[in-house]
Amino acid sequence: MAQDWDIKSRSESCTACSTAFADGQSYFSALLFGDAGYERADFCENCWTQSEAVLSPYSSWQGTYRTPPPPGNTEPLKKETAESLLRKLIENEDPQNKGVIYILAVMLERKKTLVEKDVTIDDNGTVHRVYEHRQTGETFLILDPQLKLDKLEDVQTRVVEMLGGSSTSAEKQTDTSDPSKQADPTDEPDNSKPDNDNDHT
Ligand SMILES: [Zn+2]
Repeated sequence: MAQDWDIKSRSESCTACSTAFADGQSYFSALLFGDAGYERADFCENCWTQSEAVLSPYSSWQGTYRTPPPPGNTEPLKKETAESLLRKLIENEDPQNKGVIYILAVMLERKKTLVEKDVTIDDNGTVHRVYEHRQTGETFLILDPQLKLDKLEDVQTRVVEMLGGSSTSAEKQTDTSDPSKQADPTDEPDNSKPDNDNDHT
């Protein structure tokens, strides 16, 4: 039984020949499913050409290596972010969160934090999406629960609440016996502030 979610780091060097990746170099990654679950292997172009057919990977993609930023200069997290929440939920592996996990991944893809690299469909029709973290190179394996539109709204509401809630979540518990009040799902809060109004010196 395959896992539904997983995070794997990218190697700093080729799995086969151990040559360290250089900034800007193309690399080839493969997810392999073995006894211990998913394993990720990263190859230089040369080794990939020789290995691809032998490995028959679960998923594979090409990326461009970027030297990761030195540790320690990341800003301390003030609150739960979509990324920290996603990492936590993947670790918990609670099937109840499958919709939330998927929506968080889609949100991070829109924010260009994650890049979709591959989509896999298992024999039983289960869809997984393989994302790569743009900065760290980590792989995020995400079950795509194929959410129906009518479920989507509920899940999005849950995501907003789990992210620390916003003004709208407090008003959710009012009993909406008036059907006309349920008709508008577009009350998404926009917390973005214009930051172009202080550029004078
Ligand atoms: Zn190599």
